[in-house]
Amino acid sequence: MLAVNETHDPELRSWVESANVAGSDFPIQNLPFGVFHRALTPEPARVGVAIGDRILDLRLCHRAGLFEGELAQVGEACLSASLNRLMALGQTSWSALRRRVGELLRDDRRRALQKKVEPCLVHMAEAIMHVPSEIGDYTDFYASIFHATNVGSMMRPDNPLLPNYKYVPIGYHGRASSIVASGTPVRRPCGQARPDSTMEPIVGPSRRLDYELEVGFFVGPGNVLGTAIPVADIESHLFGACLVNDWSARDIQAWEYQPLGPFLAKSFATSVSPWVVTLEALEPFRVPALIRPDGDPEPLPYLDDARQRERGGVDLRLEASLSSERMRAAKVAPFVVSRNSLRHLYWTPGQLLTHHASNGCNLRPGDLIASGTVSGPTRESRGCLLELAWRGEQPVTLPTGETRTFLEDGDEVIFRGWCEREGWVRIGVGECRGVVLPA
Ligand code: CA
Repeated sequence: MLAVNETHDPELRSWVESANVAGSDFPIQNLPFGVFHRALTPEPARVGVAIGDRILDLRLCHRAGLFEGELAQVGEACLSASLNRLMALGQTSWSALRRRVGELLRDDRRRALQKKVEPCLVHMAEAIMHVPSEIGDYTDFYASIFHATNVGSMMRPDNPLLPNYKYVPIGYHGRASSIVASGTPVRRPCGQARPDSTMEPIVGPSRRLDYELEVGFFVGPGNVLGTAIPVADIESHLFGACLVNDWSARDIQAWEYQPLGPFLAKSFATSVSPWVVTLEALEPFRVPALIRPDGDPEPLPYLDDARQRERGGVDLRLEASLSSERMRAAKVAPFVVSRNSLRHLYWTPGQLLTHHASNGCNLRPGDLIASGTVSGPTRESRGCLLELAWRGEQPVTLPTGETRTFLEDGDEVIFRGWCEREGWVRIGVGECRGVVLPA
């Protein structure tokens, strides 16, 4: 069972000075994992930990003999070019590695290690970040009741929420091959749409390209086919969180989604942020699951336990910004279009994973499970343009006076995520960004 421990101590500081700057996403209390290589080198991708504006190269640490004894196996796992092997090892190993990396970077009596560790640091500015794991399978849920209600009310004003929503976490199987790292440009997809029910379908570049602000969770050890993961064990199966942009072509989606759900409207690209913040790092920011309104059913027993009720949610703050070509030319800062928190989800991340495995479907290390668009109760907290501009009826105005109902070519979408809470050091997930290229 995860608990707050000495690695979360707000007094801890690092000898990497940039990690101690107030507002840094990557203080020593965070220590997220990622995969990178140094630009302009032929070196293979390797596992690293973000600290301030540096990356601790765990491959070099292992080679320098900094992971010994019980950490030897964990060190071996860090020699690979993805996080899958580390994710497969499980909670005890992840915690041991987090403790050790914290020791290596801590500004205290063990600073004696600094000389040995310093050569293992790389400037983030010199690094190219990769998708953190080899994602075998990607599943996208629909866990925000606010999003489901908003979108439902556009399609079915009298009956926005279908009767299964409050009982069963809704999801669909996404496409893993087109998941790209933050910073990768995204080409506007072409596809089939029917703009109007009196017309014949047309084929061409999507005219209703949208983003979806989501959070992804990477699967740890996984489960054997035919077995489930009890809700009580679920958190040892969640490695950590990243930001996800589930780019969506609404016109293609509207025409193709019945009866089997999203297909080509979603599978052309999904962006992920490169740093995976472990569930352990998130521990001080856990909150109760959303309080269900009176009259809503309780989750069925396989999705319910005291831990989920009391600490199943995560107060991960989220922000989405837009930057048009004109804004960048005029050096106007990205414009924040929505702010929200993951705590507004109807289903907790643990419930999503438990449900996913409840039929015996095997989840494997490195699989990605995304929350679905995170929207909250207010207009400002709507997690996609479809909702913010209400299907094109309420355009969003940018600082240059340009308006948006959907994304234009050249628009950059930037997500940020962080946790802050009095008494604890703020930690960040970093950024997930992508520019729209013409079809
Ligand atoms: Ca989605």
